[in-house]
Amino acid sequence: MKVEIRHFDCPACGAMMVYSPRKMSLLCPYCGTDKLIDDETDRDKFDLRKSFSNRAKFSPKKVNKSGKCPKCGASNEFEEFAFAKRCEYCDTPLVSDYFQEIKPSEILPFKIPEKEAKAIFKDWIGSLWFAPNELKRVVDTQKRLDGVYLPYWLFDANSVTAYSGMRGDAYYETVNVRRVVNGVERVEQEQVRKIRWTPVSGVVSRDFNDLPIPADLIIKPSLLRKIEPWDSKPARKFKDEYISGFNAREYARGFDTCYSDAVNIMESVIEMDIRRDIGGDEQEINSMNPVFSNEKFIHKLFPVWTTHFRYKGKDYRYLINGFNGRVSGERPYSYFKIAGLISLILLILSAIAYWDQIRAWFGY
Ligand SMILES: [Zn+2]
Ligand SMILES: [Zn+2]
Repeated sequence: MKVEIRHFDCPACGAMMVYSPRKMSLLCPYCGTDKLIDDETDRDKFDLRKSFSNRAKFSPKKVNKSGKCPKCGASNEFEEFAFAKRCEYCDTPLVSDYFQEIKPSEILPFKIPEKEAKAIFKDWIGSLWFAPNELKRVVDTQKRLDGVYLPYWLFDANSVTAYSGMRGDAYYETVNVRRVVNGVERVEQEQVRKIRWTPVSGVVSRDFNDLPIPADLIIKPSLLRKIEPWDSKPARKFKDEYISGFNAREYARGFDTCYSDAVNIMESVIEMDIRRDIGGDEQEINSMNPVFSNEKFIHKLFPVWTTHFRYKGKDYRYLINGFNGRVSGERPYSYFKIAGLISLILLILSAIAYWDQIRAWFGY
C-alpha cells in the first residue's frame, strides 16, 4: 500500500524539522529554528465492552506500507507495523499518514536526547560485573541508537471482589521431643508453631487507572517491564510532530488480547488486597469473584532508546526509557572473569585452612 508521507517544513529555511527531546518541540537541524507543538487536552477513552463487539475491525492487521521520500524521491518500505522511520538513502524523517483502526490518542514524548542516552548506556555497561572487556569496544563502535515509540494499551477498570477463604493465626505449643545426645536418650521440651484456621469471607474493591500493557511483539515484555513505570502525567495528545525523526510502531497485539494480560495483573493485585483484608499470620483464598466495571482503554505511545549488539554470535538488546532514563538490558558474562574470581575465592579459602602452616612458613 502506498502511503502519504507527512513532513514538517521549517518556516525559516524550508528544511524538514525533527522532534527535539531537549527542547520538546520541533527543531530545524539546519538553521536551528524551533516551533512549539501545541497540546490539546481532550482525550477520549474507548469503552471496552462496546469495543469488544468490534473486535475484528480493531484487531491488528499487517499492511505492507511504502512511501516516497519527500527529499530524494526514493521509495521506502516500512517494516511490519512500523509507521515512522528515516529515509534509507538520505536520512530524511518519514512519518506515514496511515494508521490502523485505532489511532494513538496519547504520546509520552522523548525527553532524553540521544547523546544522553548513549552516556547512560556506557555507564551501565561500565557498571556490569563480569562483563567481557571487548563489550565496551563493541558498544563504542555502535554509531546510532534507535529512538522508537512503542505501542501500549492502557486500561482503566473498577473492581469489586467477593471472596471466601481461611484466616490462619499462629500459636505455639509445648511438646515433648525425644532426642539422642551422646548415645543417651533424653526428653526435651520444644515450642512448635501451629496455625488455628477460621473461615472468613468478605468484599474488597479497587480501581485501576492507566494500567500499561505493551502491544508490541519485537521487544520482550520482561525487558520492557524493567524500564517501567511510565510517567503518565506528562503525556500529550498524540501528534505526528513528536514522531518526526524517530521510529514508531503501531499495535501488533490487539486490545482484547492485551486486556487478558491486564486482567491477570489486576487479579494478582486484588489477591494481595484480599490477603491484607483477611489479616492474621497466614491466609488461604478458596474463591474470589472479581466483577469489573467501567472498563476503558486508550492507545498510547511510549519512547524507548534501544539497540542490539552481537557478541560471540548472540544477540543482546538493551533499552532506555526515553523519558526518565531508566535502563534495562540483556548482557553477556565473561566466564573467564567468573572463573578467575572463583579460583581467587578458593585460594583465599585454602589459605585460611592452612593459616597455621603459612604462619609457620613465614616464621610467625
Ligand atoms: Zn530551518
Ligand atoms: Zn530520501
